[in-house]
Amino acid sequence: MKITLYGAAGEVTGSAYHLQTNRASLLVDFGLFQGGKMTEKRNRAPRGLNARQLDAVVLTHAHLDHSGRLPLLAKQGYSGPIYGTPATLELSALILHDAAKIQAQDNERLNRKRERAGEPPLQPLFTAGDVETALKLFRPAPYDQPVAVAPGVQARFVEAGHILGSTSIELTVEEEGQKRVLVFSGDLGPRGAPILKDAAPFKQADVVFLESTYGDRDHRPLTETIAEFEAIIKTAVERRGKILAPAFAVGRTQLLLYLLAVMFRRQVTPKFPVYLDSPMAIEATRIYLRHPELADEEVQALRQVKPLQEDLDTMRATVTAAESRALNDLAGPCLIIAGAGMCNAGRILHHLKQNLWKPQTSVLIVGYQVEGSLGRQLVEGREQVTIFGEKIAVRAAIHTLGGFSAHAGQSDLAWWFDPLAPSRPRVILTHGEDKGRRGLARLLADRYRVQAELPELGHNIEVF
Ligand code: ZN
Repeated sequence: MKITLYGAAGEVTGSAYHLQTNRASLLVDFGLFQGGKMTEKRNRAPRGLNARQLDAVVLTHAHLDHSGRLPLLAKQGYSGPIYGTPATLELSALILHDAAKIQAQDNERLNRKRERAGEPPLQPLFTAGDVETALKLFRPAPYDQPVAVAPGVQARFVEAGHILGSTSIELTVEEEGQKRVLVFSGDLGPRGAPILKDAAPFKQADVVFLESTYGDRDHRPLTETIAEFEAIIKTAVERRGKILAPAFAVGRTQLLLYLLAVMFRRQVTPKFPVYLDSPMAIEATRIYLRHPELADEEVQALRQVKPLQEDLDTMRATVTAAESRALNDLAGPCLIIAGAGMCNAGRILHHLKQNLWKPQTSVLIVGYQVEGSLGRQLVEGREQVTIFGEKIAVRAAIHTLGGFSAHAGQSDLAWWFDPLAPSRPRVILTHGEDKGRRGLARLLADRYRVQAELPELGHNIEVF
């Protein structure tokens, strides 16, 4: 059998593994490349992959860099099953539809320019129709129970603690009377993070594909970050200003809402209005609420006393653009969670334009800000920024909370690998830039005498 890497080799996006045996052909994840040069070209389906010959796709979790090329498969005639946990499939539908919408908008803008230049129009990578075709192939898979997914291949989906529904996937592969166990870590969450259960480790494998996003370092302890979050909220409420939180719709938004609910319940601060000003975050939050069975013990215990929604009864979802605009006229204190997370598009831009110049405003940056984004300019302490062509003074307090990562740091990656070490698996480090994967490779060599492999894009891993 061989596994070909069609992404996330020496980088963190485009996760895709193609497993071929003499009886079966299947993909583990088929994600988009995001950012960087040549992205457009690399997102076209790879040569050498025949969509029509595939038996199955198994999906670790819903993030676009793991699910985003699925509509391309459907477009190319793939009609087999796409397996994932129920929450993963629900979130994937939301994320893929959103991606199709953004692509349509971007493509339209690009084609207007091309038309003026006398150039022929381009097609978007995929459309809402392609997404619909892919969604018809979705097949829910249970946690922890082996599922026969392709001839001679069983898959088991195991909690990864990264986002709702996220899993590691164990494949048991039979070929010519031999059996091999392959474990794909998927993206692993940090241990002890709120809301979700921790990743469940494995005890035995022949080959492990391990993510290495933060393979070279640990995050700031979560307890410190939560304490800082509480202090920022308390100060902002005393100043009676607006708190603006650029939202990542899936995961980070629900974390903020949860932390606030707990603050309100403990009466650390008086209740104040919270506006969820992002249709996508509203829908993602609904999906989180539909899956109480996936919550960790802490959330379960809190829920036994009373539902967390009761603590958050000052929360309003603002669905329409008119409702969003109406927030301009409100006085503080209030919290507005609005997309996009890096402040490069979406409703947050309007709120920033209206409020950045006011000293009583607070901005809560809770996720990674790519270079060049407005979010990054705020993090870097610019005194003036440009929004919709207008110069805006930055007098608001800008708070950067770096400890809310959805990825395990180095120590937690080692913790996850520890029970696997005695079975002496081959280890292949993926989903990490060079610094991250080399850092983790060093640790695995020192601690477990494991010589991890660091493959490049398009590499074949031969297993038998
Ligand atoms: Zn992810």
